[in-house]
Amino acid sequence: MTRSGAAYVEGLRDARTVFIDGERVDDVTTHPAFANSVRSIARLYDIADDPSNRDLMTFGSPTTGDPVNRAFMIPRSREDLALRRGAIRRWAESTFGLMGRSPDHVASFLAAFASAPDIFARGGQQFADNIVRFHEYARDNDLYVTYTIVPPQIDRSKPAHEQADPHLYAGVREERDDGIVVKGAQMLGTGSALSDWILLSCIHPLREGEENQAISLVVPLNAPGLRVHSRRSYAGAASSMFDYPLSSQFDETDSLVVFDDVFVPWEHVFVYRDRAITRSQFFETPAHTLGNNQAQIRFATKLHFLTGLTRRIAEMNGTAALPPVQGTLGEIAGHAAMVEGLVLAQEAHCEIDGNGVARPGRAELYANMMFQSSLYPAVLQMVRELCGGGLIQLPSSREDFGNPEIAADLERYVQSPGMSSVERVKLLKLAWDAVGSEFASRHHQYEMFYAGAPFLVKGHMFRNYDFASAQELVESALQGYDLDGRIDAMPPGAGVPQRGDVGAMS
Ligand SMILES: Cc1cc2nc3c(=O)[nH]c(=O)nc-3n(C[C@H](O)[C@H](O)[C@H](O)COP(=O)(O)OP(=O)(O)OC[C@H]3O[C@@H](n4cnc5c(N)ncnc54)[C@H](O)[C@@H]3O)c2cc1C
Repeated sequence: MTRSGAAYVEGLRDARTVFIDGERVDDVTTHPAFANSVRSIARLYDIADDPSNRDLMTFGSPTTGDPVNRAFMIPRSREDLALRRGAIRRWAESTFGLMGRSPDHVASFLAAFASAPDIFARGGQQFADNIVRFHEYARDNDLYVTYTIVPPQIDRSKPAHEQADPHLYAGVREERDDGIVVKGAQMLGTGSALSDWILLSCIHPLREGEENQAISLVVPLNAPGLRVHSRRSYAGAASSMFDYPLSSQFDETDSLVVFDDVFVPWEHVFVYRDRAITRSQFFETPAHTLGNNQAQIRFATKLHFLTGLTRRIAEMNGTAALPPVQGTLGEIAGHAAMVEGLVLAQEAHCEIDGNGVARPGRAELYANMMFQSSLYPAVLQMVRELCGGGLIQLPSSREDFGNPEIAADLERYVQSPGMSSVERVKLLKLAWDAVGSEFASRHHQYEMFYAGAPFLVKGHMFRNYDFASAQELVESALQGYDLDGRIDAMPPGAGVPQRGDVGAMS
C-alpha cells in the first residue's frame, strides 16, 4: 500500500554508502546536500498517501486490494493512461516539474517490464517470474527505484571487454549458484542517493563480446559494495531557500554509481548475459514509451511553470502589454502547449499490444522527445530575453534585507508598482534558479540528455513514424496523373489509410 513520507525517510537510514565532498555521508536524511530533496520526495509520498487524493493517486493492488500508486499500474486502455497522467501530473506540480527521476519514473518502467513477462522468459521462465514478482513487491511496498542504464564514457570507441580493464562498465564478474557478482560503474544515477533500490541495466546497444553488460537487475541501496558518488550539491551550496528556492529543494544529486563486487541473488536478476533481451526489455516491452510518457508529463508541467513565471515577471516589469513581449510570451506558451498536446496525443493514439497493454502513441512520444533537446534551450533563451538584467540586479543574499542601510536602497530601487522589494527579489531569484543558476544549467543538460543523446532520439523517431501510410499518400498523388494529365477524379483521401483513435498492434 502507499506509504507516508515519514516511512520513506525512515527507510533511507540504512547504512548506504554515499560520498560527497570527500566524505562518507552518515545519514542522507539529515545531510545538507540531501535533506531537502529527501523532504521533497517525502512530500510526494504524503500526497499519494493522503486519503483525499486516493482516487487521483492510487488504484487497488491486484494482489492485496490495497491502494497503490498509479505509476505502478499496467495501463489497459486509453482511460488508464489518462488516470495515470492525472497522478503523475499531481506529483510533478508539487516539484514544478523539477524532479525528473521522482519515484513514478522507474515505477513506469517496472510496470511495463512486468506487462511483458514473455520477453524476459526468453532467457528462462525464472527471469519472467522475477520481474513480475519484483514489480509487485515494489508496487505493494511503494518503493522508490531509480536506474542507472548508461555506462561511463571512458572510451566509447571500444566495447566493454576491450577497455583497459574489462570491468570498468558495470557487468557480471562472477556467476555463483545463488546469484551473480557485479563489478564496474555506471555513468549517472539521478536520485540514486535518495532511493530505496537501483535498477542496473544498459540501454545503449551492446556489441558482441559485451554479454557481461547485457543484464538487468535490482539492488537495494545498502547492498555491500555499492558506492554512490554524488556530484557537487547545489542544495548544499545554496545560501538560503530564499536565494535559491529550487536548488535548495529539488536537487536530485546525480551520482556516479560503483558496483564493487556487489552480490545479487538470482531472484533480483531479470536479464542475464543476453544482449537481445537487454535491448528488448526497453524497446519491445512498453517500457521506453511508458517511462518517457511519465517524463514528458513532468516536462509539460515544468514548461507550464516557466510560462507562468515569465508572464508574472513581464507584468511586474510593466512590459506585459507590449505587443513584442506578448509575442514572446505567446511563443513560450506555444512551446508549452505543443509538449502538452503531444502528451495528450499519445493517449489518443495509444495502441493495445498483444498483452492487452495500452502503449502511448509512439510517433507523438518520440516527436516530443526529439524536440525537447532544442525546445528547452529555446524556451530558456526566451525567458532570459524577457527578464533582462533584472535577473542579475539582485541583492547578494537575503541578509541584505536585514541591514537597514542596504534595505532602504533596495526598497527604493529594487521594487515594482504593487510589489515590495522582497516580493520582487523573491520572484526574480526564483526565475534565476529556474534558468540561470548552476541548478538551472544542470536542468538544461538534463532535458537535452535524459532520454539519450539527441542523435539517438532522432533514430527512435525515424523508426517509429508511420512512413508507410505517408508514402501511400505520395503514391496516391502520383497515381492521380501522368504525361497526359489527370487520370481519375478521386474523392479526397481515397486509398489513404486513416488513422484510428485506438489501434491494435500487429
Ligand atoms: C543531468 C543528467 C542526469 C542523468 N540521469 C541519468 C539517470 O538517472 N540514469 C541513467 O542511466 N543515465 C542518466 N543520465 C545519462 C544519460 O542517459 C546520458 O547522458 C545519455 O544517454 C547520453 O549518453 P552520454 O552522456 O554518454 O553521451 P554520449 O553518447 O557520449 O554523446 C555525447 C555527444 O557525443 C556525440 N556522439 C557520441 N556518439 C555519437 C555517435 N555514434 N554518432 C554521432 N554523434 C555521437 C553527440 O554529439 C552526443 O550528443 C543523465 C544525464 C544527465 C546529463
